[in-house]
Amino acid sequence: MIRFRILGAGGAIPTPTHTPAAYWVTVDGTGILLDPGPGALVRLVQSGDAPDGVDGIELVVLTHLHPDHCADLVALLFALHSPLTESHEPLRLFGPEGLRAYLEQLAQIYGRWLEPRHRRLQITEWALPEALDLPGGGRIQPFAVDHPQDRLSRNGCLGYRFVDHQGRVAVFSGDTGACAELTTAATDADLLVVECSAPDGLGVAGHLTPTEVGRLCAVAQPQRVVLTHQYPAAAAADLRAGIAPHFDGPVIQARDGNLFYVPRESGEENPWSAP
Ligand SMILES: [Zn+2]
Repeated sequence: MIRFRILGAGGAIPTPTHTPAAYWVTVDGTGILLDPGPGALVRLVQSGDAPDGVDGIELVVLTHLHPDHCADLVALLFALHSPLTESHEPLRLFGPEGLRAYLEQLAQIYGRWLEPRHRRLQITEWALPEALDLPGGGRIQPFAVDHPQDRLSRNGCLGYRFVDHQGRVAVFSGDTGACAELTTAATDADLLVVECSAPDGLGVAGHLTPTEVGRLCAVAQPQRVVLTHQYPAAAAADLRAGIAPHFDGPVIQARDGNLFYVPRESGEENPWSAP
């Protein structure tokens, strides 16, 4: 079973309902902090999904190193430096090439303040098509997407397929423009959480508009679609109207706090938009 909590349904510019990228995904019970953008820790603790707070975070997965997707990595590591934390479990970080250099450069700024007090840090830069096997038979599979690279990630940015022990799939696009890799990854997915940064007419390179999401879904035919990474203009628009001419499956325009299950369960928390 996969549980996909939208902690932040926005992009770099926060609004009251759409804060920067942050997600808490559980695959067969394994918790994954996906893209700790600004405010991720606060929103995770507020969500109730991590009752042990930062002590309960053991696996962090990054799509890329832009600040709206990873700024709270600093907050997390600084919190784990506190002697008040109790967990001695390793903290595993997975991200694109450049993650290690990013952390080394943070250490130039903060010194030992970002070294977890009790926990060993395990850093992995994905080597595609590498995957991570999870307890219980699930796995995380990264794939390349099309987004402007930062200075450290020469291999660019990533999306992810989360697969549970029964082969059910939730796909997260990360930040991307239309690309074949995303279409392939999303094909027949049970849940596609896809960025839709701007309404049609305001699209920018490396991001998706409703029409582009619609064309993607027309080919990939995911079972359900959740729109995220909405900048303010997108959050204020009816994005689903731009998708409908291309794709007639269920599409939800996410807001912070929405919760989705694969397979779908009645406990989903999507009070703002009907599928
Ligand atoms: Zn972004």
